[in-house]
Amino acid sequence: MKIMKFGGTSVGKPERMHQVAELIQKDDEAKIVVLSALSGTTNALVEISNNLAGFDKQAAKHNIDKLETHYHDFIPGLVQTADARNAANRIIDEHFEFLNIILKISFSEALNKDILAQGELMSTKLFSVYLQEQGINHRLLPALDFMSIDTYEEPQVKEISNKLAPLLATHKDVKVFITQGYICRNARGEVDNLKRGGSDYTASLIAAAINASVCEIWTDISGMHNNDPRIVEKTVAIEQMSFDEAAELAYFGAKILHPASIWPAQMYKVPVKLLNTMQPEDKGTTIQEMAGSTGVKAIAAKDGIIAINIRSSRMLLAYGFLRKVFEVFEKYRTSIDMITTSEVAVSVTIDNDAHLDVIVKELGALGTVEVDRDETIVSIVGNEIAETKVILASLFESIKDIPVRMVSYGGSRHNISLLVPGKYKQQTLQLLNKGLFNL
Ligand code: ASP
Ligand code: MG
Repeated sequence: MKIMKFGGTSVGKPERMHQVAELIQKDDEAKIVVLSALSGTTNALVEISNNLAGFDKQAAKHNIDKLETHYHDFIPGLVQTADARNAANRIIDEHFEFLNIILKISFSEALNKDILAQGELMSTKLFSVYLQEQGINHRLLPALDFMSIDTYEEPQVKEISNKLAPLLATHKDVKVFITQGYICRNARGEVDNLKRGGSDYTASLIAAAINASVCEIWTDISGMHNNDPRIVEKTVAIEQMSFDEAAELAYFGAKILHPASIWPAQMYKVPVKLLNTMQPEDKGTTIQEMAGSTGVKAIAAKDGIIAINIRSSRMLLAYGFLRKVFEVFEKYRTSIDMITTSEVAVSVTIDNDAHLDVIVKELGALGTVEVDRDETIVSIVGNEIAETKVILASLFESIKDIPVRMVSYGGSRHNISLLVPGKYKQQTLQLLNKGLFNL
């Protein structure tokens, strides 16, 4: 059995959904199809939630109506028979009735999660109506019946597998299952989600839970590229990479795959394929245990980074200093991405400024603190690059004019990270593309 996950743009137009229906019939293997919400929907739902949290019912109502129109307009392109159109309109009516009821009750976090869940619920149901119209045998598998997170908001593959296996077993004859990405139940049994972009995570968790043959992630680009195609002119798709390489790239800015979605596939040894809905014949990228080759695979960049430097002459020969620094970040649940130290100072980077003020205040007790915002982490990723001397030489040669703020090297064998001021990002990516890939 395999997993096929389609993102928001792959289901965002009626004709895209038709294409998805074709793609899931290309082979005979049984499959679980994971769908995102139609593109733009979750953003719209977030806005509606924010309106309600801010007591702006009028704005919420306006946004609900706008979204409803979008969905009703979607239907004529999706299905043709009167029966199918009626069924689809009923589904939309039902969900928007729910949103309109929410307008009348007082807002809460649980309600927020209910609102955010509407997108995936609607996309899967609409897709199911289309499949039915086409006479394609399938079953809707409600994610809320098997996808769950524990009290730490972490999904547990065993739990998911225990709930999913009996559901699949009752439909042994079915070859196509459709389910929602992103949504789940929390430890209190309420509707919750796997955070923004979480449909990839859903796909990978299901792949692990059923020991799938492959977890296919279908998007609108032909796999992971060696550099950011939005910034650098010439880029190429990477055919094969290891889970470790993919994890570094996904974490450090390659937008194509949600970073959390690597571990379940890696732990349960399910290969992940990144494929293009628009060009299904393209090879895309296969992520598996083995790297395929050594050397530089790709460059990724992550913006909006904050660098914090803590300098203390008392640190000289002192032990426990780093622990005290880390404890401040731990206290405010803010994770550190990069670290460099010297004998009298330490620099760290974070990407979450929610608690920056208090963190800086508390660090002030340990030394002089300096904060630089709008930095960019540029990560160079590849199997064993840390051991490959020529790479280091050409890397630094190519960016000799860039004011590099931090360098992280040796933390893993697959990664060298640089911190540069945000305004040098484009130039750095281009120079490295030339220097390391000759592109
Ligand atoms: N629809 C959700 C989002 O936009 C989940 C996803 O598409 O992966 O964040
Ligand atoms: Mg996504």
